[in-house]
Amino acid sequence: MLLIPCPHCGPRNQEEFAYERTLDSVVRLDDAPDAAVTALYTRANLRGTDHEIWSHLCGQWLRLTRDRMSHAISAVEPL
Ligand SMILES: [Zn+2]
Repeated sequence: MLLIPCPHCGPRNQEEFAYERTLDSVVRLDDAPDAAVTALYTRANLRGTDHEIWSHLCGQWLRLTRDRMSHAISAVEPL
């Protein structure tokens, strides 16, 4: 279970948030469909930090920086 610090509401339980996607999975499907499919399904699963998009029950969208191994959250910014 994660404790996520919402910039608007303070620390809240992970159950109040919805995970949307990692920022590296954001691709434009209309530019090159084959390249987009490759980017979505053959991404490397590397160690390190990941930048993710989450939304909170308060209606705010967040950019969360999280370690892929430990799940430690190092930064949360409003989008
Ligand atoms: Zn909030």
